[in-house]
Amino acid sequence: MKVLLTEEQVRAGVEGLARKIEELYQGKPLTMVGVLIGSIVLLADLIRRISIPLRVELVQARRYWGQVRRPGPMAVDLEVLAAAVRERHVLLVDDIFDTGQTIAELIPMLDELDPLSIRTAVLLRKQGRSQVDFQPDLVAFDIPDVFVVGYGLDYKDMYRNLPYVAALEPDELAA
Ligand code: 5GP
Ligand code: MG
Repeated sequence: MKVLLTEEQVRAGVEGLARKIEELYQGKPLTMVGVLIGSIVLLADLIRRISIPLRVELVQARRYWGQVRRPGPMAVDLEVLAAAVRERHVLLVDDIFDTGQTIAELIPMLDELDPLSIRTAVLLRKQGRSQVDFQPDLVAFDIPDVFVVGYGLDYKDMYRNLPYVAALEPDELAA
């Protein structure tokens, strides 16, 4: 395992996101919507650095097992979510923007609920991987195309609790 972003670097990146969010949403009704499970660490740190009022919701996207994408439940309680985004600005928060498919699936679903606006914030964006025609609005770090864990990101449900972001070596991924 090779450390890609130290705890200190992650903290600075999260702080940068928080300042931009305060600027963008000052005086506006904001609901931050975290994508389970990977965004929870970012979300928890991020909201504590933001001083403007905000609401928090969570949505579940499809899941990965290791590196393989499995169609999972889109476990979203639409009624709860609808109430949380109605007449409010939505900021979708995820750990990493890779192909963009997760966010591409979630945005139309949120859009149906007719919020005032929708933007996306991620801690990490993998370079050269996007398969969609949009980019996240707020990105803390651009990283190379490696499989990363830590700070909410898992490999087979492990490593989410690491306080830093690390790249797994090919032999660790094979194991
Ligand atoms: P996308 O839909 O943009 O391809 O992928 C986004 C989701 O895939 C992330 O929320 C995350 O769950 C997972 N993912 C993508 N790349 C990585 C990675 O390098 N490591 C881990 N642990 N998960 C990743
Ligand atoms: Mg995820």
